[in-house]
Amino acid sequence: MQKAIKQKQRGMLRLVKSSPGAIKSEQKPMADSEDYYKQVECYAEQIRKTNSADEIIRILDIVLSETRGLRFSDEVFAAQEQVKHAEQKIESLKSELEQLRGLVQTDQMTGAFNRRGLDDVFKREAARADRNAQSLGVILIDLDNFKQINDSLGHPYGDSVLVNLVTVAKETLRPTDIVARFGGEEFVILLPDVEMEEALTIINRLQNNLIKNSLLQIDNQLTSITFSAGVALRSFGEHQHSVLNRADQALYQAKRTGKNRAIPALV
Ligand code: GH3
Ligand code: MG
Ligand code: MG
Repeated sequence: MQKAIKQKQRGMLRLVKSSPGAIKSEQKPMADSEDYYKQVECYAEQIRKTNSADEIIRILDIVLSETRGLRFSDEVFAAQEQVKHAEQKIESLKSELEQLRGLVQTDQMTGAFNRRGLDDVFKREAARADRNAQSLGVILIDLDNFKQINDSLGHPYGDSVLVNLVTVAKETLRPTDIVARFGGEEFVILLPDVEMEEALTIINRLQNNLIKNSLLQIDNQLTSITFSAGVALRSFGEHQHSVLNRADQALYQAKRTGKNRAIPALV
């Protein structure tokens, strides 16, 4: 009986010892596998010392349950790989989505935000302004005599004037400022955290930079691209349409009083 048990025990030990290759091939971190093999050696020693079949079975049950635990860990490990893979997929979908969002929010010709983009950005900036008790400059600008530019120099030239305006605006403004094409030759500029005087200074600087950047000849006359602007400061909680309406009235005043100027909006 004793001999039979010992033979059985050796066979089982061989079985356990012959399995390392199989276990190693599962993607288990080395440190855990080594712990496991040390533990198995320890149980093997206990089996060698006992003559009781019950004891051997009890020890084997422990080894088995620990092996199952190890298999379970391997599953977790595999699941982690799957989660990592899924995370990568989600990341790439997210960046594709961000690209798409960029496309639907951008005016293709000028690269400025379009109306849809402006709506989103305005919401974000308005919320930030309210949260931080800061002002938000909302400026409506409209190119002067643009129809004449188109008529004299052609529509493609007119297009390049619009592109140039956005380029000069991005160069002149702070990185946190926003340029959006409101439609045709009208643009909206958002200046976070400015007071009226500062906003007027910034818009005047943009007007000067555009003039420097856009000298042209129409009907033998040297001229340059100018715009008129209505400058409003959004008050706490004020909606986009309300502040734009005030800016539009100021823009109208700028046009009426001679163009190429920026007029502060009434509160
Ligand atoms: P004002 O100084 O009073 O603003 O006069 P204006 O000539 O600029 O204004 P008006 O509204 O009479 O003309 C705007 C012109 O802008 C008419 C339209 O053909 C032109 N326009 C609108 N969108 C585009 C565009 O994408 N490209 C070009 N080249 N022209 C455009
Ligand atoms: Mg217009
Ligand atoms: Mg115009």
